[in-house]
Amino acid sequence: MSDWTEIEKEYYMPTFKRFPVTLVQGKGNIVLDDKGNKYLDFVSGWAVNSLGHCHPAIVDAVTDQVNKLIHTSNSYYTIPQLQLAKLLVENSCMDKVFCCNSGTEATEGAVKLARRYGRKHLNGAYEVITATGSFHGRTLAMVSASGQTKHQEPYTPIPAGFVNVEFNNFSALVEATTEKTCAVMLEPIQGEGGVNVARRDYLLNVSAWCKQKGILLILDEIQTGIGRTGKFFAYEHYDIEPDIITLAKGMGGGLPVGAIAAKNDASVFAIGEHGSTFGGNPVACAAAHSVISYIIENNLTQNALKAGKQLHNELSGLNKRFGFITGLRGMGLLQAIEFEHDYADEITLQCLYNGLLVNRLKPNAIRFMPSLITTPDEISEATGILGKVFKEF
Ligand SMILES: *Cc1c(COP(=O)(O)O)cnc(C)c1O
Repeated sequence: MSDWTEIEKEYYMPTFKRFPVTLVQGKGNIVLDDKGNKYLDFVSGWAVNSLGHCHPAIVDAVTDQVNKLIHTSNSYYTIPQLQLAKLLVENSCMDKVFCCNSGTEATEGAVKLARRYGRKHLNGAYEVITATGSFHGRTLAMVSASGQTKHQEPYTPIPAGFVNVEFNNFSALVEATTEKTCAVMLEPIQGEGGVNVARRDYLLNVSAWCKQKGILLILDEIQTGIGRTGKFFAYEHYDIEPDIITLAKGMGGGLPVGAIAAKNDASVFAIGEHGSTFGGNPVACAAAHSVISYIIENNLTQNALKAGKQLHNELSGLNKRFGFITGLRGMGLLQAIEFEHDYADEITLQCLYNGLLVNRLKPNAIRFMPSLITTPDEISEATGILGKVFKEF
């Protein structure tokens, strides 16, 4: 059997800290490694595999499309892209969609859109206010947007035009707003930043402030969108309507696809101002259409809410039993627990050895992002393994 860890060392750029496991196959919420070990997957490719692994709905849609038409340029109309756009518009407060290939491209595109808006309606305003601890992607502009110095420092100088202010602090955001501001961009729940949930009053105030100032509110729903938090979009929890949202991760169920969705007023790109070779690709869009349709038809958003409650309750139980758990946060099937000390590496590894994949979020926190098809038994199995691992601490 090949030693893929050695092959990686020789041939792949070492940007990822990986666990010593090579995954080769998956079905439902179970993945198999190359030695035949089974794992219950509560990472879901970082909130991507919303229907678990190799769900027949996605496999069928992709197989069908691959046999029909894989790619054309965006000089021509293609059907899956337009079906996807229509479905997203019909199930959101948005009016127009642009498809891309990843989360970073979606947020980068949203910022370009906001700058066009600033040029058109706000005397050339171009600055975007974002939050500390946020994560909006990996291009130079998006590391500048993301309020985490660890992503910025290796790449200075980083592009100008972003102001990072404290998350959940409305007055800091008000103070940072100037005549140069064209938009505010926030995650309703900061995913990579620690599963930090935006307070209700904060987002309501921010939304009202943006309206008052005539600037755009961009919500980065790349991690929270498409059912994960127990609503189809996280903004629905707050009873607000942003001007622009960005999507990716769970939307394609594993195929690389992202999108910007905007209200008509904010949809100001003109012909030639933005584009993509692969964005809106028929195969990726057919996958996304099948995922979103399946989630809606099978009410999986409701399942995320129910399963999320169960997960929260069972994690609360562990919290009572083990004094070293100091925090519990999240919504629906995006949750994290925090430890008193930096136990996350060891706990993540022990979970893996016990057949459970969880995400090491920070030195002292782990994150759970199981698929939207997770069953009550699978939640109990996962929290059972966690209990067993915690007992060893
Ligand atoms: C993952 C993520 C991104 C970046 O998406 P990629 O597909 O990795 O480029 C941006 N914003 C949020 C909120 C994310 O969770």
